[in-house]
Amino acid sequence: MKICRFTHQSTGAQTRYGIIEGAEIISLPSANLFANDFDGLDSAPHVKLAEATLLAPCVPTKIVCVGRNYREHAAELGNPLPAEPLLFLKPPSAVIGPEASIELPAASQRVEHEGELAVVIGRRTSRLSESDEPLAYVLGYTCANDITARDLQRQDVQFTRAKSFDTFCPIGPLIETELDPLDLPVETHVNGVLRQSGRTSHMAFPIPELIRYVSHVMTLEPGDVILTGTPAGVGPLLVGDVVEVSVAGIGTLRNKIRAAN
Ligand code: MG
Repeated sequence: MKICRFTHQSTGAQTRYGIIEGAEIISLPSANLFANDFDGLDSAPHVKLAEATLLAPCVPTKIVCVGRNYREHAAELGNPLPAEPLLFLKPPSAVIGPEASIELPAASQRVEHEGELAVVIGRRTSRLSESDEPLAYVLGYTCANDITARDLQRQDVQFTRAKSFDTFCPIGPLIETELDPLDLPVETHVNGVLRQSGRTSHMAFPIPELIRYVSHVMTLEPGDVILTGTPAGVGPLLVGDVVEVSVAGIGTLRNKIRAAN
């Protein structure tokens, strides 16, 4: 299933969740994604995908990010691989959807892309035991761009400011629920030029281990997102650039860059 969140002229100002099938979106009746009966959609209205505006495909209560989860990326920033997953948070206010603009804040002279596979949680998750299967708590997977003000990350003691500006968390374009996440290519292009290329099998801490680890720190709610780390090749974004994060089996998350007002 390919889950999206969208607006369309037929929905007015209301946002809707939907299932993408070919050139159409099946509009889900409940505005709460997790309250929908996915087996009872025969009479649900359809809209044309081309006429819809896709939004970030979920509304997380938090975005948990994993730093330095690919050896070559840790090395390019002069960092060792951590002994345990290195966690930080991005605020929900940073989330934007596909085709929305990433805004370069005046406070930073160096904003960089970090293309990543994102995990979307499907069931409340807390303190998973060794016998629990972490992937059973996953709704699906999407693309994310962990936009980072690299100069501020170096300047500040911790990551909050550098990772949290409005528009610094593009996610989308959809949530793919039928996907094995353990060995997927993750690529980032800027203006059509390949900047990052990695495989999720190269993660220092694989996805099931990350979910279990995070669940022992904080309760994960349905719709929460885990950004699983970025491969090597991070680099600057400039006004007018177009950045695309692609994960095989999901699609491409495309955003333009502009200056903040
Ligand atoms: Mg990152």
